[in-house]
Amino acid sequence: MRIVLATGNSDKVAELRPLLAPRRVDGAPEGFDPEETGVTLLQNAWIKAAALRDAVDDDAIVLADDSGLVVHALGGRPGVFSARYAGPDATYADNCRRLLDEMEGVDDRSAAFVCVLVGLGPCDMMLVSCGTLPGTIAPAMRGGGGFGYDPVFLPAGDPRSLAELTQDEKAVISHRGRAARRMAAMLPAA
Ligand code: IMP
Repeated sequence: MRIVLATGNSDKVAELRPLLAPRRVDGAPEGFDPEETGVTLLQNAWIKAAALRDAVDDDAIVLADDSGLVVHALGGRPGVFSARYAGPDATYADNCRRLLDEMEGVDDRSAAFVCVLVGLGPCDMMLVSCGTLPGTIAPAMRGGGGFGYDPVFLPAGDPRSLAELTQDEKAVISHRGRAARRMAAMLPAA
Protein backbone atom coordinates (compact mmCIF):
# COMPACT_ATOMS: atom_id res chain seq x y z
CA MET A 1 0.00 0.00 0.00
CA ARG A 2 1.29 3.44 -0.96
CA ILE A 3 0.68 6.65 1.00
CA VAL A 4 1.09 9.97 -0.82
CA LEU A 5 1.48 13.06 1.36
CA ALA A 6 -0.22 16.26 0.20
CA THR A 7 2.93 18.30 0.67
CA GLY A 8 6.07 19.03 -1.29
CA ASN A 9 7.87 19.97 1.95
CA SER A 10 10.67 17.40 2.24
CA ASP A 11 11.06 18.05 6.00
CA LYS A 12 7.44 17.03 6.58
CA VAL A 13 7.84 13.94 4.39
CA ALA A 14 10.97 12.99 6.35
CA GLU A 15 9.19 13.60 9.67
CA LEU A 16 6.09 11.58 8.79
CA ARG A 17 7.75 8.66 6.94
CA PRO A 18 9.08 6.83 10.05
CA LEU A 19 5.79 7.36 11.88
CA LEU A 20 3.89 5.60 9.07
CA ALA A 21 6.51 2.85 8.48
CA PRO A 22 6.67 0.19 7.15
CA ARG A 23 4.24 1.60 4.60
CA ARG A 24 5.68 3.27 1.50
CA VAL A 25 5.39 7.06 1.81
CA ASP A 26 5.88 9.48 -1.11
CA GLY A 27 5.66 13.27 -1.40
CA ALA A 28 3.12 15.04 -3.61
CA PRO A 29 3.77 15.28 -7.35
CA GLU A 30 5.89 18.26 -8.52
CA GLY A 31 3.91 21.51 -8.56
CA PHE A 32 1.12 20.32 -6.25
CA ASP A 33 0.05 23.49 -4.41
CA PRO A 34 -3.70 23.93 -3.96
CA GLU A 35 -4.97 27.22 -2.55
CA GLU A 36 -5.70 26.87 1.16
CA THR A 37 -8.94 28.84 1.39
CA GLY A 38 -10.39 27.16 4.50
CA VAL A 39 -11.02 28.93 7.78
CA THR A 40 -10.32 25.84 9.89
CA LEU A 41 -7.43 23.38 9.97
CA LEU A 42 -9.82 20.57 9.03
CA GLN A 43 -11.07 22.45 5.96
CA ASN A 44 -7.56 23.12 4.72
CA ALA A 45 -6.45 19.53 5.32
CA TRP A 46 -9.57 18.39 3.43
CA ILE A 47 -8.92 20.78 0.50
CA LYS A 48 -5.36 19.44 0.12
CA ALA A 49 -6.39 15.79 0.48
CA ALA A 50 -9.27 16.07 -2.01
CA ALA A 51 -7.07 17.87 -4.58
CA LEU A 52 -4.41 15.18 -4.30
CA ARG A 53 -6.95 12.35 -4.38
CA ASP A 54 -7.85 13.46 -7.92
CA ALA A 55 -4.18 13.48 -8.94
CA VAL A 56 -2.90 10.04 -7.82
CA ASP A 57 -3.55 6.32 -8.50
CA ASP A 58 -6.79 4.88 -7.26
CA ASP A 59 -5.19 2.39 -4.91
CA ALA A 60 -3.03 4.91 -3.03
CA ILE A 61 -4.07 6.57 0.22
CA VAL A 62 -3.53 10.32 0.26
CA LEU A 63 -2.76 12.07 3.52
CA ALA A 64 -2.93 15.83 4.11
CA ASP A 65 -2.06 17.77 7.25
CA ASP A 66 -2.72 21.28 8.41
CA SER A 67 -1.42 22.68 11.65
CA GLY A 68 -1.21 25.88 13.61
CA LEU A 69 -0.69 27.56 16.96
CA VAL A 70 -3.79 28.37 19.01
CA VAL A 71 -3.39 30.98 21.76
CA HIS A 72 -6.11 31.18 24.41
CA ALA A 73 -5.81 34.88 25.23
CA LEU A 74 -5.98 35.74 21.50
CA GLY A 75 -9.28 33.90 20.95
CA GLY A 76 -7.49 31.06 19.14
CA ARG A 77 -5.31 33.18 16.87
CA PRO A 78 -3.08 32.76 14.90
CA GLY A 79 -4.65 29.31 14.38
CA VAL A 80 -5.28 28.49 10.74
CA PHE A 81 -3.46 31.70 9.76
CA SER A 82 -0.23 30.79 11.62
CA ALA A 83 2.02 30.75 8.54
CA ARG A 84 1.15 34.31 7.46
CA TYR A 85 0.42 35.92 10.81
CA ALA A 86 2.71 38.93 10.33
CA GLY A 87 1.80 39.36 6.62
CA PRO A 88 1.94 37.51 3.31
CA ASP A 89 5.76 37.46 3.16
CA ALA A 90 6.31 37.02 6.88
CA THR A 91 9.33 35.06 8.07
CA TYR A 92 9.19 32.74 11.08
CA ALA A 93 10.95 35.45 13.14
CA ASP A 94 8.41 38.11 12.01
CA ASN A 95 5.55 35.86 13.16
CA CYS A 96 7.20 35.20 16.52
CA ARG A 97 7.79 38.93 17.08
CA ARG A 98 4.18 39.80 16.24
CA LEU A 99 2.98 37.15 18.68
CA LEU A 100 5.29 38.37 21.45
CA ASP A 101 4.11 41.97 20.86
CA GLU A 102 0.47 40.92 21.16
CA MET A 103 1.20 38.94 24.31
CA GLU A 104 3.02 41.85 26.01
CA GLY A 105 1.58 42.18 29.53
CA VAL A 106 -0.86 39.27 29.06
CA ASP A 107 -1.04 36.93 32.08
CA ASP A 108 -2.83 33.96 30.50
CA ARG A 109 -0.11 32.60 28.20
CA SER A 110 -1.69 29.17 27.60
CA ALA A 111 -1.55 27.88 24.03
CA ALA A 112 -1.44 24.68 22.01
CA PHE A 113 -0.14 23.45 18.69
CA VAL A 114 -2.84 21.54 16.82
CA CYS A 115 -2.46 19.23 13.83
CA VAL A 116 -5.29 17.74 11.77
CA LEU A 117 -4.64 14.88 9.35
CA VAL A 118 -7.12 13.79 6.67
CA GLY A 119 -6.63 10.49 4.86
CA LEU A 120 -8.57 9.63 1.70
CA GLY A 121 -8.30 6.11 0.28
CA PRO A 122 -9.90 4.05 -2.44
CA CYS A 123 -13.64 3.31 -2.25
CA ASP A 124 -14.48 6.57 -0.43
CA MET A 125 -12.41 5.64 2.62
CA MET A 126 -11.94 8.73 4.81
CA LEU A 127 -9.97 8.97 8.06
CA VAL A 128 -9.36 11.98 10.31
CA SER A 129 -6.97 12.29 13.23
CA CYS A 130 -5.89 15.16 15.43
CA GLY A 131 -2.92 15.75 17.72
CA THR A 132 -2.29 18.58 20.16
CA LEU A 133 0.70 19.81 22.13
CA PRO A 134 -0.27 22.02 25.07
CA GLY A 135 2.07 24.64 26.51
CA THR A 136 2.60 28.36 27.09
CA ILE A 137 4.00 31.33 25.17
CA ALA A 138 7.49 32.26 26.41
CA PRO A 139 8.32 35.89 27.29
CA ALA A 140 11.03 35.98 24.56
CA MET A 141 12.47 33.85 21.75
CA ARG A 142 14.81 31.07 22.91
CA GLY A 143 16.82 28.36 21.13
CA GLY A 144 18.13 27.84 17.61
CA GLY A 145 16.45 24.61 16.49
CA GLY A 146 13.08 23.78 14.98
CA PHE A 147 11.01 26.18 12.86
CA GLY A 148 7.96 28.43 13.00
CA TYR A 149 6.89 29.36 16.53
CA ASP A 150 9.22 26.83 18.22
CA PRO A 151 11.41 29.56 19.88
CA VAL A 152 8.40 31.11 21.67
CA PHE A 153 6.62 27.90 22.71
CA LEU A 154 7.27 26.17 26.07
CA PRO A 155 5.76 22.66 25.99
CA ALA A 156 3.90 21.76 29.21
CA GLY A 157 6.15 20.07 31.75
CA ASP A 158 9.46 21.15 30.19
CA PRO A 159 11.35 24.36 31.03
CA ARG A 160 12.89 24.47 27.52
CA SER A 161 11.36 26.03 24.41
CA LEU A 162 10.58 23.70 21.49
CA ALA A 163 13.55 25.25 19.68
CA GLU A 164 15.80 23.95 22.49
CA LEU A 165 14.65 20.33 22.09
CA THR A 166 16.36 17.84 19.77
CA GLN A 167 14.38 16.74 16.70
CA ASP A 168 13.85 13.31 18.31
CA GLU A 169 12.60 14.85 21.57
CA LYS A 170 10.17 17.05 19.62
CA ALA A 171 8.91 14.14 17.51
CA VAL A 172 7.82 12.24 20.65
CA ILE A 173 5.56 15.03 21.94
CA SER A 174 4.67 17.04 18.83
CA HIS A 175 1.11 17.62 17.61
CA ARG A 176 2.10 16.22 14.18
CA GLY A 177 3.67 13.12 15.75
CA ARG A 178 0.60 12.51 17.87
CA ALA A 179 -1.79 12.93 14.93
CA ALA A 180 0.40 10.72 12.72
CA ARG A 181 0.59 7.90 15.28
CA ARG A 182 -3.21 7.98 15.63
CA MET A 183 -3.59 7.92 11.84
CA ALA A 184 -1.08 5.05 11.52
CA ALA A 185 -3.14 3.00 13.99
CA MET A 186 -6.22 3.37 11.73
CA LEU A 187 -4.54 2.78 8.37
CA PRO A 188 -4.40 -0.68 6.81
CA ALA A 189 -1.10 -2.48 7.55
CA ALA A 190 1.57 -2.28 4.85
P1 IMP B 1 1.62 23.74 8.42
O1 IMP B 1 0.16 23.67 8.19
O2 IMP B 1 2.18 22.50 9.09
O3 IMP B 1 2.42 24.13 7.22
O4 IMP B 1 1.87 24.87 9.51
C1 IMP B 1 1.42 26.21 9.37
C2 IMP B 1 2.22 27.11 10.28
O5 IMP B 1 2.01 26.73 11.64
C3 IMP B 1 3.74 27.01 10.09
O6 IMP B 1 4.18 27.88 9.08
C4 IMP B 1 4.25 27.42 11.45
O7 IMP B 1 4.25 28.83 11.54
C5 IMP B 1 3.20 26.89 12.39
N1 IMP B 1 3.59 25.55 12.89
C6 IMP B 1 3.03 24.36 12.59
N2 IMP B 1 3.68 23.35 13.23
C7 IMP B 1 4.67 23.93 13.93
C8 IMP B 1 5.69 23.41 14.78
O8 IMP B 1 5.85 22.19 15.01
N3 IMP B 1 6.51 24.32 15.34
C9 IMP B 1 6.40 25.66 15.11
N4 IMP B 1 5.48 26.18 14.31
C10 IMP B 1 4.62 25.33 13.72
